[in-house]
Amino acid sequence: MTIDSLSSYIRNLSDSEPLIIAGPCSAESEEQILDTAKQISSKTSTHIFRAGIWKPRTRPGNFEGIGEKGLKWLEKVKEQTGMMVATEVAKPEHVNLALKYNIDILWIGARTVANPFSIQEIADSLKNIDIPVFIKNPINPDLSLWIGAIERIRETGISKIVAIHRGFYPYEKTKFRNIPKWEIPIELKRKFHNLPIICDPSHISGNTNYIQEISQKALDLNFNGLMIETHNNPKIALSDSEQQLTPKKLEQLLKALIIRTSPIVVNKEVLQQYREQIDSIDQQMLELLSKRMDVIDKIGKYKLNNNITIFQLRRWENILKTRTELGVKMGLNNTFIKEILQLMHKESIQIQNKIMNKQ
Ligand code: PEP
Ligand code: MN
Repeated sequence: MTIDSLSSYIRNLSDSEPLIIAGPCSAESEEQILDTAKQISSKTSTHIFRAGIWKPRTRPGNFEGIGEKGLKWLEKVKEQTGMMVATEVAKPEHVNLALKYNIDILWIGARTVANPFSIQEIADSLKNIDIPVFIKNPINPDLSLWIGAIERIRETGISKIVAIHRGFYPYEKTKFRNIPKWEIPIELKRKFHNLPIICDPSHISGNTNYIQEISQKALDLNFNGLMIETHNNPKIALSDSEQQLTPKKLEQLLKALIIRTSPIVVNKEVLQQYREQIDSIDQQMLELLSKRMDVIDKIGKYKLNNNITIFQLRRWENILKTRTELGVKMGLNNTFIKEILQLMHKESIQIQNKIMNKQ
């Protein structure tokens, strides 16, 4: 695929097969890069080969990337496999070198996206150059920061922008290295209908156990592609060793993916009937919520007149317990009920707060 077909491809992404990016976390040696690329290219129909040349490491002393000479290896990958090549840039100097070696696509990493100064510097170095730029989500779950980076890059005139969802840093230990928080990329898509979003299951998973399920979920949520770290010998990789797949495993993963967009099979009428049911249930839920809030209003006034505090721990604990038990009996997920109750409770406290503080 050439850059021109990439740009029309990016425009039509939602109607096509997913865009696949694969390659090692870091470029380590010419042999590693060429062998990995050749295996990926012969076993799969990966469109873009990735490799980090400059690695952002949390603490000094780890492998910080091979630097400029790795860019030459990427040029060879292009010549020898026909795949496009992508690398991470974190400052103007990286941009200039990447352009010097004809890198096709730049991506901006999660740590850099968290820093508007760096993003602005990169944006300034991209003036009058129309290279595709892929922008990862920032490490912290802040949608505005992600959007801010996209806007800064877009304002320089870059027209081919793709967002990469790579999950968010968890403050507590979870099964994932980075929590997906799918609602954030979904909200990004709602705000920017034409922005392609691809998923990086490798950095979400942090090991090889969940890459398949995260990739499938991303496709089921209508993401436009996947970026999957792939190394010819993951065990000896100098960075992110645990989460990289071999080209063989990548091949198996891609083959097992189910792409659910066959309009011929989809019976639109059946879907329409289900959607009508959902519309009607939502209407009923909203009416009930509104009724609930009317009662909250009355409670607020009653508490105000009788000098009772808004928050009553016992009552709240009882609500949580009884509703969760009831919901679970009805087959609902425990956490889901808790989160809905917490949201409703927060809103009723706000309503009562307003009533109490009117005077
Ligand atoms: C990477 O893609 O290797 C990388 C460093 O990712 P992130 O910026 O998402 O941590
Ligand atoms: Mn990595």
